[in-house]
Amino acid sequence: MLELPDHRLRQREYLLQISRAITSQLNLTSVLSLVINVAVEMLAGTSGLIALYEEDGSDELRVRASAALPREIWPAFTPLLNLPLGQTRRNVMARILREIAADTGLNLRQLIALPLTFSDIPVGMIYVFRAALNVGFSADDEQVLQAFADQAAIAVSNARLYQGVLREKQRLDAIIEQSADGVMILDNRWRITTFNQTMEQLTGWPREESIGRPCAEVLGIRNTQGVNICLADCPLQRRPFMHNPVVEGWITNRDGRELYIQSRYAPQRGSNGSLIGAIANVRDITEQKREEELQNTFVSVISHELKTPVSIIKGYAGTLQREDANWSAETLRDGLRIIEEEADRLARQIQDLLDVSRIQAGGLRLEPTDWSLPALAKETVQHFAAQTNGRFEFELRFPDDFPPVRADFERIRMVLTNLISNAIKYSPDGGTIRIGGRAEDKIAIAYVADQGIGIPPEEQDRIFQRFYRVDNRVGREAQGAGLGLYLARAIIEAHSGRIWVESQVGRGSRFFFTLPLAHRQIQVRDE
Ligand code: ADP
Repeated sequence: MLELPDHRLRQREYLLQISRAITSQLNLTSVLSLVINVAVEMLAGTSGLIALYEEDGSDELRVRASAALPREIWPAFTPLLNLPLGQTRRNVMARILREIAADTGLNLRQLIALPLTFSDIPVGMIYVFRAALNVGFSADDEQVLQAFADQAAIAVSNARLYQGVLREKQRLDAIIEQSADGVMILDNRWRITTFNQTMEQLTGWPREESIGRPCAEVLGIRNTQGVNICLADCPLQRRPFMHNPVVEGWITNRDGRELYIQSRYAPQRGSNGSLIGAIANVRDITEQKREEELQNTFVSVISHELKTPVSIIKGYAGTLQREDANWSAETLRDGLRIIEEEADRLARQIQDLLDVSRIQAGGLRLEPTDWSLPALAKETVQHFAAQTNGRFEFELRFPDDFPPVRADFERIRMVLTNLISNAIKYSPDGGTIRIGGRAEDKIAIAYVADQGIGIPPEEQDRIFQRFYRVDNRVGREAQGAGLGLYLARAIIEAHSGRIWVESQVGRGSRFFFTLPLAHRQIQVRDE
């Protein structure tokens, strides 16, 4: 066996030791310290430095590790670090070395310097100094140093790569954490490994508790039959694999809220194509779902609502036209009156629909004037009293000096008509309908109260939503498309007013709304 000379053996030992250090610990400074200390020893130097370029790409070198040179004197070496390697003449180098030696009081007579490069990219420099003048650095020394320089360059590049990966991970973690969508990362057994803030809000599960649990337990999406789809038919487990599966359904979160959610999965595959996990994006689409359901009901209700007057009109027109019948003048008048009333009803419904689309387009325009609310209430009540044949008692309760309001007369007539017609519709046993109001500061507060079926507390906000109707017997029998209160609210709010209801089931409801008083407008103009 070939015997290696002693120093070669030592060099090999040291290189091994350094590569172990590189792989076992990622603390760059200690690896670099080891490299420079060993390099100085191997080259029989007195001291040494390793300087690295800053990571921002600038060509400025900064000392990062040293052998036998205390940190306080590192700045003294700056002129050396600034020298362009290779182009510097020996005598310039020698002068600078003398100056540093004088500055620091160190015995620095000779210098060997090599670049640290990794994949042809310079990452820094290594310097070894000797005290003796007579012993110069040989080509052999340079070779030895090169081996250490290469090791140092690997360590630097490893550490930077690791830092880069760490930074990228932190960036991704932040993106996931702050995503407006719920984000979950699942392992290959569909257990949760990452659970972001939005997921916590959606499900009500704290992150600490959800991590490690099966996704079907935490999310548990149910289909319309109430079956947990995640347990019964997890789309990630279907074979053949589904391409980006989506699941939609209801969940009950920990606060007891029912949410309709959509969960999209991006399966993650290993190099052999097997599933190693999935990323789930979860969204709360309850509002869209409710809107969609309402829209569906609305279409069927509205087509029924529009068809009814049309068929009544057609029926009467056909009957009255029959040539074989000899209708009395009274029958003719009655028939024509009904035709006219139904045509009016149809026109109102079409107007409502147009108003709804105008509101949605943000274009409800008002024509405000000053007028008397009690007078409008009186006129509207007379109209309804005539129609209801004494089934209801109507009471008007306005103080005599009720000031004029400033509002769009036709639209408020519509609101009042609507509230009174609801009071009638939802009072199957008749009763008293009170309409009244008072002036308070700069607004009028008016109300329409009935003794009808009432509205359960949980429905009291919803009835003002588009197409919303309370599902009860009276409601199902009553005509309506669930637009009246929606329009009323839009109209009142366009006047900067408010509309709300106080109600008790079985006792009756009282709808309030506010409108600006006329003098308020005048004051505003005066200011
Ligand atoms: P609709 O055309 O169905 O009457 P509205 O928007 O006017 O539509 O009313 C929405 C729902 O609110 C009604 O379907 C009904 O269930 C409820 N509602 C409205 N007014 C009353 C009332 N005075 N008493 C009881 N329920 C009412």
